[in-house]
Amino acid sequence: MTQMNKNINVREQGTQLKCEKCGNASFVNTYFIFKVSKFLTGDSADSMVPVPTFACSRCGNINREFRIDPDESEVIEDASQIEIPFNDE
Ligand SMILES: [Zn+2]
Repeated sequence: MTQMNKNINVREQGTQLKCEKCGNASFVNTYFIFKVSKFLTGDSADSMVPVPTFACSRCGNINREFRIDPDESEVIEDASQIEIPFNDE
């Protein structure tokens, strides 16, 4: 197992991540929730499994590298922002 070097100055040597959508630099803890069937676990009820991630504290966006599936469509809080591509072929 690799031991992390504790002498790293994150402000000088790290890269501060910013929201891909609005450029804000602070994030809040949030979760993806996975439901696991009771038939897989053998429990009496389905299980809810939280997987922690980070969301922009300003706009709620979850950066691609914080997502489990980076190709999934971005989180949209305001449904009016959804753009439906006009496809008339
Ligand atoms: Zn943002």
